[in-house]
Amino acid sequence: LMHDLHKAEKFSAISQLAASVAHEIRNPMTTIRGFMQVLQGDRNLSDDQNLFISISLQELDRTQTIINNFLALAKPNTGSMNPIDLSTILKETTAFMRSYSHLRNTELVEAIDNSLCIKGDAHEIRQVFVNILKNGIEAMPSGGSIYILAKVDKGYVRIQFRDEGIGMTKEQLARLGHPYYSTKEKGTGLGMTISYDIIQRMRGKIKVESEEGKGTIFMILLPCG
Ligand code: ADP
Ligand code: MG
Repeated sequence: LMHDLHKAEKFSAISQLAASVAHEIRNPMTTIRGFMQVLQGDRNLSDDQNLFISISLQELDRTQTIINNFLALAKPNTGSMNPIDLSTILKETTAFMRSYSHLRNTELVEAIDNSLCIKGDAHEIRQVFVNILKNGIEAMPSGGSIYILAKVDKGYVRIQFRDEGIGMTKEQLARLGHPYYSTKEKGTGLGMTISYDIIQRMRGKIKVESEEGKGTIFMILLPCG
């Protein structure tokens, strides 16, 4: 049901129009950002003025992220199907996310087999891993670990992310992946929508198990290639 809903949304004329508007908004925002940066370099500014400028820059960046996520969702499916070494991509993404993880007192523990090969788009699959890892880290406000496993299993590469976070209720789990569903104050609610879409286009499967107060397991299966 979720994927059908998503597809219908995606190809609607309104969605196309919204995407072109979102795209147009990026140019004036770049101008504003440029001028704000020039202002930031002024030595005569008071502490308050400096603070206001840096908050404005942060909010501009947040707007940019929202727009980029929206555009990624609205864009036609162009993901390539190249042979890629998933082991390397997963190890690189884990390394990339480690600073964010440490900042939030969490650990990333990996057991990733070598030479796991699939067909897909390296940039897109990296995006899926970043989204899942980010959610896992954000689900553990008082620390914990994410266990990352990857191996071959009956013609599929199986990738598993298990966190020790707050988990989800049945109702929350049912809404996961719906466009703009978020329980976070500054969430976009698009991370999982985009991720489900990418996995589906790679002819993969994604399964989520979650228990409130215990944690969540994301399991991804991608055909070996
Ligand atoms: P966002 O992170 O911007 O809120 P997502 O699509 O990435 O949007 O996630 C949607 C919602 O799903 C989150 O707001 C959160 O409530 C829930 N969620 C996703 N991953 C996890 C997880 N690992 N543990 C607990 N809740 C999660
Ligand atoms: Mg997210």
